[in-house]
Amino acid sequence: MPVAVHLFRALSDNYGFLVTDEATGLTAAVDVPDGTAAIAEAERRGLQVTYVMNTHWHPDHTQGNAALKERFGAHVVGPAEVRRVAPLDGELRGGDVFHLGETAWDVLETGGHTLGHVSFHSRAAGVAFTGDCLFTLGCGRMFEGTPGQYWASLGALAALPPETRAYGAHEYTASNLRFALSVDNAPELRARAERLRPLLDAGEATVPTTIGEELATNPFLRAPRLAIAASAADEAEAFARVRAAKDAFKG
Ligand code: ZN
Ligand code: FE
Repeated sequence: MPVAVHLFRALSDNYGFLVTDEATGLTAAVDVPDGTAAIAEAERRGLQVTYVMNTHWHPDHTQGNAALKERFGAHVVGPAEVRRVAPLDGELRGGDVFHLGETAWDVLETGGHTLGHVSFHSRAAGVAFTGDCLFTLGCGRMFEGTPGQYWASLGALAALPPETRAYGAHEYTASNLRFALSVDNAPELRARAERLRPLLDAGEATVPTTIGEELATNPFLRAPRLAIAASAADEAEAFARVRAAKDAFKG
């Protein structure tokens, strides 16, 4: 079933997402960085927000939940860790399927940024919401998990159909691209940089990306193939080395 995804900027570099199941008109907010911005976007489009789908507990993803609940009576679902900061009406874990009208969203366990982080994938719509696990040309900081956990999470996303449109929750592409070019000389990456530069110069969104483009150019997915990490004992360690290099990157 097709869906419409409306993205809008919020806070300094977050994206908010409203996703509508076109068969029924039912709409969910995927994370709520800013309740006021989400309500304004919904009203501008004449949408009622029936659900909030949270990817993880961080305040820049959950702090607007209450505003959508108050304005629309939205039902909030997400991983149990969200309860650290906000109430949940329904708990989701990896392997669950969340139905938004006629669209089924597979809940993928994608921990590592936070331990309980989840992503949402609709095979029929060809869309994934990857929260702070996977970004255009980047990935989230590893605040709570281990390299093995994070690498497995990226593997789960990398296994989605290559044409899947992946929506990460931040616009970090300018910095991600500078880092990627500093560690990887792949022709696919250089070609992508040429395609991205006009968008970045114009301040336009570089979200969504596709899984196929990320497989070809994302330095974290390519970690085992990069010179800075090729000597790692295993792929998770290669990932950890690239993650550490990005954490220290001042480009
Ligand atoms: Zn986060
Ligand atoms: Fe975030």
